[in-house]
Amino acid sequence: MRYIMLGSGAVRDNPNRGGPSQLLQIGDENWMFDCGRSACTNLARAGVHCENVDRLFLTHLHFDHIVDVPYLVFVGWVKVRANPLQIYGPIGTKHFVTHVIRPPFEQDIQSRIGHGKDDSVLDPEVIEIGEKGEFLATDDFQVSATFTDHGGIPTLAYRVDTPDRRVVITGDGNPDGEFPAFCRDADLLSIECSGTAEFLATQPWGAWHITPPEIAAIATEARAKCVMIKHLVIEDITGDLEVVHRMGDQIRNGYDGKVLVGEDGLLVEIG
Ligand SMILES: [Zn+2]
Repeated sequence: MRYIMLGSGAVRDNPNRGGPSQLLQIGDENWMFDCGRSACTNLARAGVHCENVDRLFLTHLHFDHIVDVPYLVFVGWVKVRANPLQIYGPIGTKHFVTHVIRPPFEQDIQSRIGHGKDDSVLDPEVIEIGEKGEFLATDDFQVSATFTDHGGIPTLAYRVDTPDRRVVITGDGNPDGEFPAFCRDADLLSIECSGTAEFLATQPWGAWHITPPEIAAIATEARAKCVMIKHLVIEDITGDLEVVHRMGDQIRNGYDGKVLVGEDGLLVEIG
């Protein structure tokens, strides 16, 4: 399994950090987790093209996590996917996909059909996840979800298990008390960290997010082997390019495992 951070930023138009997205390569499949600003460009930089993404897992429907979805779908269609894209996400994902693909792009779709294009693989297959637990399993992997508390909208965290590896990828938000058990012994915990506790306390949306000491406590209790932080909003708002490294140090203060500060293109080989 291989994890590549595609976008370590968040809402703002940071030229050095794309919007939330990451790639997990598992067997011969390419899975994306979230599809924010510039995700598809960063995907190509990682050597993978839109038509070769098999599954997209959306954590929640805040725009910074999903704004590149139409691009992923349309370029995959134009370059001819083998099969429709599978999109997993919280309740509301079907509504989002239904409204963001066909209606606004109907002129484009009709013009391409008029020139002989087949639209059979255009529409993604959407699977909504309304309860926690395992929702996808083969002999090679199992995928489970749980929820976080994030600004009042349904928000998922995902766990991918292979016979000998475990990766957890969060969206945004505050996990519940069962989350360390969900992450137990994870080889990688990829978790949002939007700012220091002091910074988040000054923001009207700060309570929607987890703090570095809380991440350290979860990772320690879970005995996670490696933590990567992402969704580094604080950098955009304060202009302080060092603060994300201090946040990494704050996690190290309470956690003995490896801590990585996310950056676009950062690759982690997981067994
Ligand atoms: Zn969010």
